[in-house]
Amino acid sequence: MRIGCIGGRAWLVTAEGQGVDIAAASGGKFPVDPQALYEAWDEVRAWARGVPADSYAPVDPATLQLPVPRPRQVFAIGANYRAHAAEAGVEPPEQPVIFTKFPSCLTGPNDPVAIRHDRVDWEVELVVVMGREARNVRAADGWDHVAGLATGQDISERAIQRLGPMPQFSMAKSLPGFGPVGPLVVTPDEFANPDDLALGCAVNGVTMQASRTSDFIFPVGELIEYISRLMPMYPGDLIFTGTPEGVGATRKPPIFLKPGDVLTSWVEGIGTLTNPITEEPSR
Ligand code: ZN
Repeated sequence: MRIGCIGGRAWLVTAEGQGVDIAAASGGKFPVDPQALYEAWDEVRAWARGVPADSYAPVDPATLQLPVPRPRQVFAIGANYRAHAAEAGVEPPEQPVIFTKFPSCLTGPNDPVAIRHDRVDWEVELVVVMGREARNVRAADGWDHVAGLATGQDISERAIQRLGPMPQFSMAKSLPGFGPVGPLVVTPDEFANPDDLALGCAVNGVTMQASRTSDFIFPVGELIEYISRLMPMYPGDLIFTGTPEGVGATRKPPIFLKPGDVLTSWVEGIGTLTNPITEEPSR
């Protein structure tokens, strides 16, 4: 099952790009608000299997909006790919490195990202959307608590990140628009192996990152085990699972995003984010 958001309303979308408005097609059984669907995920999945084929209509991918508009919690993982830890010059961590992206930074799969700093970097990431409350979940049961997967960008301002004596991940990665997510939320059963997905990103069509989630140091199940032993996770919460090698800051010379660039980001089986980089008007 694939869930998208069009005109602020939750849509069920097929792999072939056809869709239905969930609130309308369910006669009001399910809410308009996509965020509310994650609270009733099993019921939505059961209903979706019975939607008549003739009720679908073509979906214009350019109209898709952020499919998880208001998560309660957004977890993000640092140094979770072996090759990225190596390029960053850090040892693979012995436990997940966790920070937050504040929900106010989230934006849609086709939205422009307005920047006003000159060290803005890309980080394509697999984003996990939780589908159940999770407390003390074992790694082996982690996927049972996942609603679906989305493509995400953990856009990062590297100068702010490195201000002061300690890294400031959460502020540097939560500026407005620094969290594109989408274009759809795709349930884990749609993938042959959800633990091994190709992902990448490009700037102006030039590929900057290309890897597979099988390079994770901590796979999805282990992340859910670790976090859910520390605190509860709720339906609709997000985990940005870390970025692979190929960020701009560690290139020689470094490369950063600038107004006029187009950042495209993809995960196999989910789809592509297309975010034009624009200049934030001076305030
Ligand atoms: Zn990241």
